[in-house]
Amino acid sequence: MSLPGPRGDGAAAARSLRYHLVTDLGGVDRGRASWLPDGAASGGVGWVPVNQVITPLDDIASRNPWGSHGDRRLAADPSTEVDLTLPDGRRLRGCICNIVELDGSPWDVCARTFLQRALSRLREEHRLQVLASFEHEFWLTRLESSAAAARGTDSSAPGFSLLRFMAQEPFGSNLMQSLERAGLEPEMFLPEFAPDQFEMTLKPGWGVSAADRAVWAKAITRVSASSTGYRASFTPIRSSGGIGSGVHVHFSLWDLDGNPVLHDPASPAGLSEIGAAFAGGLAKHMPALCALTAPSVISYERLKPHRWSAAYTCVGERNREATLRICPTAGRDPVKLRRQFNLEWRAADATANPYLALGALVSAGIEGIRHRHALPPLVNEDPSGLSDDERGALGVERLPDSLPAALGALRADDRARSWFPEPLLEAYLLLKETEAAACSRLSLDEICRRYETIF
Ligand code: GLU
Ligand code: MG
Repeated sequence: MSLPGPRGDGAAAARSLRYHLVTDLGGVDRGRASWLPDGAASGGVGWVPVNQVITPLDDIASRNPWGSHGDRRLAADPSTEVDLTLPDGRRLRGCICNIVELDGSPWDVCARTFLQRALSRLREEHRLQVLASFEHEFWLTRLESSAAAARGTDSSAPGFSLLRFMAQEPFGSNLMQSLERAGLEPEMFLPEFAPDQFEMTLKPGWGVSAADRAVWAKAITRVSASSTGYRASFTPIRSSGGIGSGVHVHFSLWDLDGNPVLHDPASPAGLSEIGAAFAGGLAKHMPALCALTAPSVISYERLKPHRWSAAYTCVGERNREATLRICPTAGRDPVKLRRQFNLEWRAADATANPYLALGALVSAGIEGIRHRHALPPLVNEDPSGLSDDERGALGVERLPDSLPAALGALRADDRARSWFPEPLLEAYLLLKETEAAACSRLSLDEICRRYETIF
């Protein structure tokens, strides 16, 4: 038998596996790799619709609309391509995808499409665009601790300390180089407060690219760690009562000519009229938003009072206990201050799908602009220190305290439900209810242990 074309080592040298990556509704990065020559997979690679209702614990939600039936495609967005060789020689080459119908048209149950549509509404209805960045805290543990011990350093050194920082080097320096090579524009790497806890920040990106950057940054951190004897985990909490690792979503609004429009130094808290309405929309829908931004059972072990996470429905200026924080600016140049000014959603963690999370925040903001929602009174202290009456007078309520409570808040919020195509909302609620039920059969320690390896 004769095969066409050359054979042997040279034949495949120009090709490499290209992973088609999609973050599913449960926040897990899944996909498949193609060996096709560049461009040949432009129609996408096959995908199975029921994959959207696999929980992070790998249970498939029963009573789902697809079962064994149906097909979709993973359509790669070439602008998201990353091609890195890891320290242990493994190659990570891939693209982030939208899940599309077989004819290439958008699929309503695709999370990236949901965000793209929310951004289009903001652009078309209000002539605005979003610049955003996901700030990630994570846990970095050595799989074998002898090397750290030999160097006299370990990551249980004091919070924020030089010793803690040096305990992980050169991991951080190498990681930042990898993120840079992947085009993610990393900015900061810091030892955080809890033992083994670090944080990494990236330059903000426009619209959907902010969520794409979050996906790649987490993936690259995790595979870089695994290739150098560490485990990196973005799980929100490792034990009941422990310190949490958050995802703080920073964002600002810009007009279509590239001028920042969130800031007005003459207004209370520095928010422009449009910025206050956008923030007012987020404030009004905070409980429902938690179902998208803090969507796992253990998310609610983190969202407790007095933890610098978020436990109450409030907006605060420079307040790290606020769900929505108005961030500080540094310097004096008014032009630079306008460009820096941003808001931070703190009730998020890495079990969230970043496309759903940012899409829901943008949808709530649009709701605020459309209906001219007022900014609630600012809370610039820890709301858990206020009395019930004081909180009541400020309109401050406890955020949902469990995943089922957050899902209930989403179900009960007609406006929030209207942001989603029905099949997406139904799939999401079904998935999350299945996940909550599966977790109810596990101890909290077991859930923490499982989520630490999954996320
Ligand atoms: N670790 C805190 C959280 O769970 C945040 C601490 C900080 O403000 O950096 O969100
Ligand atoms: Mg932090």
